[in-house]
Amino acid sequence: MSTIARLFAEKPCVFSIECFPPKQTTRFAAMQQTLRSMKQLSPDFISVTYGAGGSAGGVSSVQVAEFLQNELGILPLAHTLCMGSDRQKMTAQLEDLRRAGVRNVLALRGDRTPLRPESPDFHHASDLMDFIRQTAPDMEFSGACYPEGHPEADTLTADVANLLHKQQAGAVHLVTQLFFDNGKFYRFLNMARKAGITLPVSAGVMPIVRRSQIERTVALSSASLPSAFTRMISRWQDDPDSLRQAGIEYAVSQLRDLIEGGADGVHLYAMNDAGVAEQVYEGIRDLLGR
Ligand code: FAD
Repeated sequence: MSTIARLFAEKPCVFSIECFPPKQTTRFAAMQQTLRSMKQLSPDFISVTYGAGGSAGGVSSVQVAEFLQNELGILPLAHTLCMGSDRQKMTAQLEDLRRAGVRNVLALRGDRTPLRPESPDFHHASDLMDFIRQTAPDMEFSGACYPEGHPEADTLTADVANLLHKQQAGAVHLVTQLFFDNGKFYRFLNMARKAGITLPVSAGVMPIVRRSQIERTVALSSASLPSAFTRMISRWQDDPDSLRQAGIEYAVSQLRDLIEGGADGVHLYAMNDAGVAEQVYEGIRDLLGR
């Protein structure tokens, strides 16, 4: 059984964190320190995003995944994208990961941006998964899912039905987009199970602790905002310390509810902030049985 699949088979709730490679190579040392601090939280795995750093000369996802794997002994999940890639580039990327000892990837299509060419070979994440299964059988892969539906899908039902492609391609687990309303997650999970999705699902939660996140992440995300969340934002958005504390408390209460509600895993979008990750972890560690 695969490493990630085994984690989900053995643990009542798998705890993972997402990090992103810094855009400047000069910031890699600070990033390494952040990851060393996160190691104290014993995450079951840390996922590493693929973006500007992976394609524009900054620190690459492979470098961060390699550091996690070989220096810290933490299982890395390296994100890989269809966009901007093709069979040849993907083969080389998988070879880089293999050389670094990394065997777990999160296979994604990638967001459409004018700077990223469409892949001639992989139109959907499931095409990339088929390719990995056929050409790199030593690699295992996970996929993304969207509790409120992917923005391009006509309906949530259609989006959930498309997850079957990922399951059939051999994905070992799914990670959700961030959400602030647990009710949306439970509804989605119910629909997914009824549609035949049996894969473990990690529920992705992002603590909103800075005003810039409200302006960027919250405003741009299509996530529903429950009234408790909007009340918190309007009350504290001009008071940075209180906003940080309130954002952590909101995430902790969301995560506690998810763990008690039986989530297979929780995935913390910690935005490379070890302090936030630690405070959130302290708020849930009893439920994780640690
Ligand atoms: P797909 O699975 O291809 O889905 C895209 C759309 O196509 C959906 O509407 C879906 O319903 C439909 N669809 C899927 N499969 C099929 C099929 N076989 N046939 C027909 N229709 C289909 N972006 C980055 O650039 N870098 C990252 O590191 C990154 N990490 C992410 C991590 C997580 C946990 C999540 C949830 C998203 C992440 N993203 C990242 C964003 C992601 O790349 C975008 O949301 C992208 O628009 C969709 O990616 P996907 O893999 O879900 O695509």
